Amino acid sequence: MSLSREAYRELAAVVGEQYISEDDFILAGNRAQTPEIPFAHPSPDAILLPGSVEEVAEIVKICNKYGIEYIGNVTGCIPTAYCTRENSIILHFKRMNKILEINAEDRYAVIEPGVRHVQLYPEVRKLGLSYTAAAVGPGGSVLVNFCATGGDHHCQYGTSRPTRYLLGVEMVLPNGEILRTGSLQTDSGWFCPESPGPSLRSIVKGYSGNSGKLGIITKCAVALDRCKGPAEFRAEGLSPHHKIYMDSDCSSVYVFNYKSIQDVCDAITKLGEAETCATVQKYFYLPLTLMMTESANEFWEKWPEYKKIFPMPLVVHIATHSAREREYEEKILFDVVEETHGTRIPREIERWWEEHMDYFMIVARLQSVLRLGGSWLPIKTGAESLQHMCDVYDQTQTFIHDYTNAGKIFDAPANYQIIPMEYGHFASSELLFMWDRKDPQSFRYMAEFSQRSKEEDLKNHAYVMAPYGFGKAVQEQGALYSHCTDWLARVKDALDPNYTLDI
Ligand SMILES: Cc1cc2nc3c(=O)[nH]c(=O)nc-3n(C[C@H](O)[C@H](O)[C@H](O)COP(=O)(O)OP(=O)(O)OC[C@H]3O[C@@H](n4cnc5c(N)ncnc54)[C@H](O)[C@@H]3O)c2cc1C
Repeated sequence: MSLSREAYRELAAVVGEQYISEDDFILAGNRAQTPEIPFAHPSPDAILLPGSVEEVAEIVKICNKYGIEYIGNVTGCIPTAYCTRENSIILHFKRMNKILEINAEDRYAVIEPGVRHVQLYPEVRKLGLSYTAAAVGPGGSVLVNFCATGGDHHCQYGTSRPTRYLLGVEMVLPNGEILRTGSLQTDSGWFCPESPGPSLRSIVKGYSGNSGKLGIITKCAVALDRCKGPAEFRAEGLSPHHKIYMDSDCSSVYVFNYKSIQDVCDAITKLGEAETCATVQKYFYLPLTLMMTESANEFWEKWPEYKKIFPMPLVVHIATHSAREREYEEKILFDVVEETHGTRIPREIERWWEEHMDYFMIVARLQSVLRLGGSWLPIKTGAESLQHMCDVYDQTQTFIHDYTNAGKIFDAPANYQIIPMEYGHFASSELLFMWDRKDPQSFRYMAEFSQRSKEEDLKNHAYVMAPYGFGKAVQEQGALYSHCTDWLARVKDALDPNYTLDI
């Protein structure tokens, strides 16, 4: 299908002929398979590259006039960035990629949607500042991670989720109106997400984002933190075979293995009570082995050994402002680990972190996890208390072996991460497995397992899969969350009665 000539002419008049395309070779790249979906998306009828909020607002009005659906896209890493039906267009934000301001004094940065972590993070780091850059890696859009998707990162123990750091937002509503939230409403600048009157913060983003289905965000401000530990780091080699070091006596990394998830929970709680360490995280052993190896062959060589050495790894980064403070935190850490029965992993393996300190800034190697079969399924990606997350890990062990032992899903039953936030006041989780996107049977098993997982969560009142998006599937999960999905559907009906923003 293609756009009516009238609609095309009006859209082209907004962005200019050079920033709209209906060429098949351009459209083809935007109906591609994404890592979670093994089939191609319907083709967009056109791709537009708007250059300003005014252009986005005009495009949205034209879409309403002609009943065209539109979808925002930066990297297109996830399926919701593509069309789900015909008569749709994609708005690609690669032209809107400016860092508009970095305010080191009041600690915030104002950005457009096309700004990637690789662009913003080095700039703020040079100023001794930092922010919670989603673990997806350098290519992810900062604005999308803060406003439209989850944005989870490894370092949330000593900081928090991006949700907590989102300040003013400029957004084009589905009727084409331009909305400015927080302190922007009163022309007071970007520093605050709230202003007099009802807050719109959770319309933009609650626990996770709405994947852009309630409006297109054209600018936002994110709060910056002072760097924990040294701001400087040293790089060696070329990506993806590079190494990143922090040569400082204000930084040290330790990795421990545990046998019981309750011990992990106790260790995190005690460290959090003492408010020590910058990053504490129970990481998953399968992606870790993939990140620590250079090829699928090397993975298969190392996996039998690594899965025995660190089936339940607790990764700890101490990042302080003085060597004395680091020594103090190390003492507490080693006491806690002893009390909770952790054991340090062999030094030659632990050294990998010292050579890959990007893990604690922007994780450069995460995409290598797609090496095994090209697809992955992250589930149980919600947040609750730390203890609840650890209990859910135990519950999962009661049924996951039915699938791993039968060879239906990858045999890594403990592949579950727990990221404590705000010194363990709550925690997010993720159960992840890799599957072969070219194998239809693998897809069916993946679907069977995720359905079972969802049923178990509902039965056990496990608050681990925050409901994302719209429709019947998420409404079932919404039952665990005070039916917030019904309220979200009402907000969608009110803001976008024509459903021009694709769901
Ligand atoms: C290997 C891998 C690892 C990942 N790890 C993580 C992780 O650790 N943490 C994490 O949070 N996510 C992770 N993800 C999920 C996801 O890929 C990231 O959140 C990613 O940053 C999204 O890509 P993007 O930023 O370019 O947005 P896109 O994929 O282009 O878009 C994401 C969503 O945002 C919407 N959107 C785009 N622009 C706008 C806009 N201007 N206004 C409103 N909505 C908009 C899109 O329509 C889409 O629904 C991972 C994905 C993969 C494949």
